[in-house]
Amino acid sequence: MARSDRPVAAVDIGGTKIIAAVFDGNGAMLSRIYCLTLAHEGPARVIKRLNQTIDRAIEKAGLQRSRVAGIGVAAAAIIDINRGLVTEAPNLPRWRNVPLPALISGEFNLPVYLLNDASAAALGEHRYGAGRGLNNLIYITVSTGIGGGIIIDGELYNGTDGCAAEIGHMVIMVDGPACNCGRRGCLESLASGTAIGRMAKERLAYGETSIMRALAGNVIEDVTSVTVARAARKGDMLALDVIRTAAGYLGIGLANLVNILNPQMIIIGGGVSSMGAMLLGPARKAIKAHAFKLPASTVRIVRPALGMDAGLSGAAEYARRKGRIAA
Ligand SMILES: [Zn+2]
Repeated sequence: MARSDRPVAAVDIGGTKIIAAVFDGNGAMLSRIYCLTLAHEGPARVIKRLNQTIDRAIEKAGLQRSRVAGIGVAAAAIIDINRGLVTEAPNLPRWRNVPLPALISGEFNLPVYLLNDASAAALGEHRYGAGRGLNNLIYITVSTGIGGGIIIDGELYNGTDGCAAEIGHMVIMVDGPACNCGRRGCLESLASGTAIGRMAKERLAYGETSIMRALAGNVIEDVTSVTVARAARKGDMLALDVIRTAAGYLGIGLANLVNILNPQMIIIGGGVSSMGAMLLGPARKAIKAHAFKLPASTVRIVRPALGMDAGLSGAAEYARRKGRIAA
């Protein structure tokens, strides 16, 4: 059996959860284990927990470590793909130039392949999900933040350092709201779940009428994008307007991508994308308004097919492809 046909492990590390899984040579999931990241404990303890989670996933799949061909690691981070480093990660405090692949590989004695979590999800959706069989697609996750992954000619595009597709940090508004990355006016600061919650709170604080106030128990500070979505589904005008505004910014970001990359499909995932047509309708409109006619009419804007595990599937697929190249 070729090395690439053996099972591979995958792990997805985010600010909240660590999920590890083992997949067989055909991409079917054999086991899945998750635990809390407890990111405030710092890199050393988080990595120990991450290694234990991978170990348990391999054990649950009924495999010896030596049967596993490699480990794909999807991290919510800015990574240096050439030096194998997590350079920084806004949701993982104190992670600065952490040699994560080496720290996992040292434990398991297996090849480890690191990539950004949204890039992993893009690869997962391309191989097994909504983008199967396409050549060019963009995956965007809109949740607390905004991340992205790009497939060009059927392959994941990592860029020179592995930092490509930071779609959330494309600057949409010069001197706009502060962003989690330390800069201003990024798409993430205007169209993420966090941004939607912030805009709603600002407008409520100005005294605008809305059922959001009651939904949050009259505590404006407790309003989140979930409150906004609930109110919007009940027809609340302010909530609908906030979503329309955020979707407009999202659409401008997408229009830029459509003009630059001319993709066949843009897959919009993440918790905020469950707003569905409320978000995607105005975003589609903005693409039409801001992108050239031909690429704007070609691109299909869709929801993901794989849900929460797209990143895991993609990290496994990445390990499989990289292992094949190395073999
Ligand atoms: Zn930013």
